[in-house]
Amino acid sequence: MKIIDIQACVIGRQEEHSGGSVWTFVRIYTDEGIIGTGECNSGGPGYSGFATKHAILAMKPRLIGEDPFNINLIYEKLRRGGRYGGSSEAPLIFALTGIDNALYDIVGKALGVPVYKLLGGKFRDKIRLYADCHAGETEDPKAYGDKAQEVIAEGFGAVKFDVDSTGIGKLDAYNWTVGAKEMTHIIQLIEGIRNAIGFEVDLAIDCHGQFDLPSAITLARAVEPLRLLWLEEPVPAENVDALAQVRASSSTVICTGENQYTRFQFIELFAAKAVDVIMPDMAKAGGIAEGKRIADIADAHYIPIAPHNVSSPLGMMAACHIMASVPNFLFLEFHARDIAWWNDLCEGDTPFIQNGFMPVSERPGIGVELNATVAKSLLWNGDTYFD
Ligand SMILES: [Mg+2]
Repeated sequence: MKIIDIQACVIGRQEEHSGGSVWTFVRIYTDEGIIGTGECNSGGPGYSGFATKHAILAMKPRLIGEDPFNINLIYEKLRRGGRYGGSSEAPLIFALTGIDNALYDIVGKALGVPVYKLLGGKFRDKIRLYADCHAGETEDPKAYGDKAQEVIAEGFGAVKFDVDSTGIGKLDAYNWTVGAKEMTHIIQLIEGIRNAIGFEVDLAIDCHGQFDLPSAITLARAVEPLRLLWLEEPVPAENVDALAQVRASSSTVICTGENQYTRFQFIELFAAKAVDVIMPDMAKAGGIAEGKRIADIADAHYIPIAPHNVSSPLGMMAACHIMASVPNFLFLEFHARDIAWWNDLCEGDTPFIQNGFMPVSERPGIGVELNATVAKSLLWNGDTYFD
């Protein structure tokens, strides 16, 4: 089998959910008529939304004529071959991720097996989800608690809230010190959620890397009694030593990873003892095999994996295949509770989310296809659909 063409298109709507719903899809065409579709992160609408698409198309000449069964060879050919061009960083690694997913889709379809069977089988039939939550235009701790209870009633095993953009007491936009007023408010919000849901439901808190080191340490210590599932990106991802200082300062569980890519950046996190839980984004981190490698290296450190996820059903199912295949899976994020058309964009075993879980597809390949009619109605900024 040979690759004869590769195309990409961008689908989504910015206004729906803070930029988290713009996705790049890759299609790889073969001389035997099998077509694979993969998904990856678009590089953010703030950077046009087309950064990843351009990177994918730039890789096209290196893909034509390759045997799609040689997934690891193609991955290393593109990654190692592009090293001096930044191939392990965004958006090139996002492009490589989408290409890798499309190749797995082709091989699964050609062999008539779901992707998880190409990864050594599955530890679980359905993937446990936590829901990213927003209380809306309010800063009332009770509203946060009410939202948490509403989401848990839908079956989700855990909830996550952001505390970095409350707008209360912020000193200024570029100083990341959390002053007394803001810190007091943030702690009251987290206490409000914990009081509402009790201690038998997991609660994660995301800081989006918006706090400086002393503020992150103060917060991590203050929330110790609230027994968080994790405190996410208390400082930015780019300084692993600073994160290690936060982790060493308290018993609060520290999580990072959505802005780290490939096994090499996760090895750094483990070596620095900077993290208790990792959350690579499977639409960004390198692809299906690379995602499994990251999970396996984490497992050797007795560290669980709880992937960040803002994907469409197609990209999310790809993540489910990986998470089905590794023992140390903890939770997968669901970020689309507020996107009305999320289910309609794709065809497969719908509804994709069932009572807080995503069942792992048994269809050949990834097991999810774009609905062309819906996809065409959601093309990003005048982009064109696949031929
Ligand atoms: Mg996050």
